[in-house]
Amino acid sequence: MAGDEGGIPPSEGGSEAARSDESFMKHALALARAARDAGEVPVGAVIVRDGEIVGRGFNAPIGTHDPSAHAEILALRDAARRLGNYRLPGCVLYVTVEPCAMCAGAIMHARLARVVFGTRDPKTGTCGSVLDLFAEPRLNHHARVTGGVLAQECTEILSAFFCARRKGGAGAGTAEPR
Ligand SMILES: [Zn+2]
Repeated sequence: MAGDEGGIPPSEGGSEAARSDESFMKHALALARAARDAGEVPVGAVIVRDGEIVGRGFNAPIGTHDPSAHAEILALRDAARRLGNYRLPGCVLYVTVEPCAMCAGAIMHARLARVVFGTRDPKTGTCGSVLDLFAEPRLNHHARVTGGVLAQECTEILSAFFCARRKGGAGAGTAEPR
């Protein structure tokens, strides 16, 4: 599981906070399935404030012809629109896959309090996998990061998607790994 490396604590097993993290990650997983069903790499995200979901997004760069249409960006836009504020202090982002550099930048601009992700992304992850932007002291905002929440489910949906694509099944020939 993630959380065994540099500065990213795992969820505390069995605590109320950990159960709540898993519950919101299940909503993000449902959005990842929506991305998959649209032929996109299955990644989903929700933004939560005071225990309530205020933003939702799923990966959609192919369908929208928009390289920035990652789940996190769409969830940030949804929450900011809904709350009428380009900054989202006190909000938590749940995303099924470790954020990339673009999304980490947007998370910092939005002043999110915390980021919770599911599985690591060894190719583009910036919560410790390729870079650790949230631990970079020269950047002026630091969201707390928790990794490895429902990591197995978050990994499985990605693996199944790429496996099906290699076999010429759903989503074949379109989506590229993020
Ligand atoms: Zn991203």
